[in-house]
Amino acid sequence: MSTELKMFQPSTTQGDACTYMWACAICEENETCQKDKEGHSRWLVAKRMERIDYKILVMSNKGGVGKSTVSTNLAVSLALKGYEVGICDMDIHGPNIPKMVGAEGQRLKISTGGGIIPHQAYNMKIASMSFLLQNSDDPIIWRDAYKFEFINQLLGGVEWQDLNFLIVDLPPGTGNESVTTIDLIGEVTGCVIISTPQEVALLDARKSVTFARDSELPIIGIVENMSGLDCPHCHQHIEVFRLGGGEASAHDMGVPFLGRIPLDPEVVRQSDYGEPYALFHSDLPTADAYHDIANKVDDFCKKKGSLVQIATKSPFKKK
Ligand code: ADP
Repeated sequence: MSTELKMFQPSTTQGDACTYMWACAICEENETCQKDKEGHSRWLVAKRMERIDYKILVMSNKGGVGKSTVSTNLAVSLALKGYEVGICDMDIHGPNIPKMVGAEGQRLKISTGGGIIPHQAYNMKIASMSFLLQNSDDPIIWRDAYKFEFINQLLGGVEWQDLNFLIVDLPPGTGNESVTTIDLIGEVTGCVIISTPQEVALLDARKSVTFARDSELPIIGIVENMSGLDCPHCHQHIEVFRLGGGEASAHDMGVPFLGRIPLDPEVVRQSDYGEPYALFHSDLPTADAYHDIANKVDDFCKKKGSLVQIATKSPFKKK
């Protein structure tokens, strides 16, 4: 196993004593602390999360529907609006965010305080399993204890600092990674559910809605991705995966519909080049779709933020 991956192995305990020395170094109670290892790591995650205004989960029960692409372009759109944005790539087995922002092969460094410094790309902070792989072809074969530790460190070990938005790109499904992430973040601002318009994808999207409800996550809405293609050759409109299913599902399940993103070959090309579409083609219709979704996410958070502000009277940082 590579040196970098060792960083994410479960730390050992000596009796009940914690070995998160770097966490202890920034804790005001380090002299009187009685926490065990899990208590320490949860404390650190809570400490990081309280400096982030909005924690947004991007999820779907199905793989390949565009979660990472939407996460990246949603983050870029929010950054273009002047927000401080981070992307936490929680897909341990298929971490694609670094590729989509042109950061493949980069490594994360450790700060003098012992935390992990996130990678900076396009004015966003990014952390991903991909930065820890010696070789991008290496598979991750971990049991749940390792995954728990990794998720803990991605949320608590990474020095996210002050952010307006942390976009968390979840892996497909409602398994261990999703449940652990939600449990550790605690107060998730809301989730965005991605679907493609055909029935098999919608079946899975509806499971995500039920999962979010069961987990008491606020649902910001459903995005219908890969929704119709304007053929660049014959100029016909082709409904490759059908059209309108995401909107109909949102309606059926009583959740907001956030919009359609067309199936656009340029999105694939730009993602593969590591140049987020919403930034490099900011004035084209597909980018408008991403910006529109970002505006709706922003509005949702502002409304929620103002409720928190009234409840706690805490000064709201930005916008
Ligand atoms: P997931 O994270 O759900 O597994 P990805 O975001 O990795 O899915 O997307 C899978 C593939 O689909 C990628 O090659 C991506 O470029 C492509 N893709 C995503 N959204 C679109 C779109 N609107 N139009 C065309 N291709 C897309």
